[in-house]
Amino acid sequence: MARHLDLPPMSTVEELCAVVAERIGRPVRLAPRRMRVGEPSGFVERLPDEDVVHVEQETSGLHRAHIVCHELAHLLRGHLAEPPPPDDPALVQLEALDPEVLRLVLGRSHYDDAAEEEAEVLGAELLRLLVLAPGAGTTSQLAPALEHRKGQHV
Ligand SMILES: [Zn+2]
Repeated sequence: MARHLDLPPMSTVEELCAVVAERIGRPVRLAPRRMRVGEPSGFVERLPDEDVVHVEQETSGLHRAHIVCHELAHLLRGHLAEPPPPDDPALVQLEALDPEVLRLVLGRSHYDDAAEEEAEVLGAELLRLLVLAPGAGTTSQLAPALEHRKGQHV
């Protein structure tokens, strides 16, 4: 799947972020932080001017990269709703209580199973690209950890 995307060589999630941003025509920012209880370990917040990838910082570098790759896969595959217009009165939309609108306002993304599956597969491939890239270094140590695992993130 990743092969068809014709991605340039890259070895860090930051580089991957830049590539994805170019592909989707919007800035993509990584926001590592301590996720609160009940929050997923990663999700994309879609703002009018940029997409922010929130990711749990209190985990291993490889797990963090896995989460980021998964979320970037959602972006690459166009799973997210259209970004909200810049000057949309969010309060008015919240009053409508339309779940779709609410989702948009909150900037959170929830996907159906097919989209989740797709992101899981493509995300794993992206991670493999990063880890196996020349200069990535600890390939032999990281490779066993690349086994597909279903994460808690959405
Ligand atoms: Zn997901």
